[in-house]
Order: sequence, then structure tokens, then C-alpha cells
Amino acid sequence: MRKDKLKQFKRLFEAQKRNILFNDRVIREDFSVSNDDRYDELDQATSDSEQYMRMRLRNREILYIKKIDEALKRIEEGVFGECDECGEPIEVRRLEARPTATLCVGCKEDAERKEVLTAAGHQHKSLGETFTRKLS
Ligand SMILES: [Zn+2]
Repeated sequence: MRKDKLKQFKRLFEAQKRNILFNDRVIREDFSVSNDDRYDELDQATSDSEQYMRMRLRNREILYIKKIDEALKRIEEGVFGECDECGEPIEVRRLEARPTATLCVGCKEDAERKEVLTAAGHQHKSLGETFTRKLS
């Protein structure tokens, strides 16, 4: 990958990370206000589900930050944009759509196919278990 392109991705990752961390601060400040203001149960319930939604959002963000950190490390190591599986360069268009991608389109499709197969296998196993349990 060309150096200027690489720099562009690095800047993108750093900006995304800053955005997420900034959002996190906003959410927390927002939180302390709403907790003081809420007294009755209905509001408490709303605040609980809001909290739940935010936690889910947070988890996703934490996961994404992890991915960004990994991508930044790959940039440092000079392997950013290379497929984890086959070592071929990942299509730039794919990286622009999904900057944290670590597999080329071909390997990604392979992985997804395997995932489907494994999921089917799991289902089989658990069905078998239920069946055995019913018998015993
Ligand atoms: Zn590949």
C-alpha cells in the first residue's frame, strides 16, 4: 500500500478513536445529571433501559476501539492492508468501506462459509443433546 494512503488510514483511525472517547465522556456527564433528576419508578425504568442501550452501545464501541488499536498496530508493523489468511493485499475499496478488515474478500467469504458450517454443526450437537436427555 502506498505511504500516503497508509497515512490517510492512520488519520482516519485516530479520528475515529477520538470520536468514540469523546462520546464516552459526553455519555457519562449526561448520566450523572439524569440520575439526580429521576425519582419515580417509571422514570427509573426508562433510565434503566436507556442505560442498557448505552451499555450495549458502549460494548460495541469498546470492541471497535480494540479493532482500531489492532489496525494501528498493523500500520506500525507495516502489514496493514495485507490479508491475514493468504497474505495478499486487501482490496483498497474494501478497506475504505471497512477500514478494520483483516481478510481479503475471497478469504472473508471462505471464513463466512466455514462459520455457517460450524453453526450448523453446533445446532446438530445441541439437538443431539436434547434428544439424549429426553431418552435418559
Ligand atoms: Zn486472503
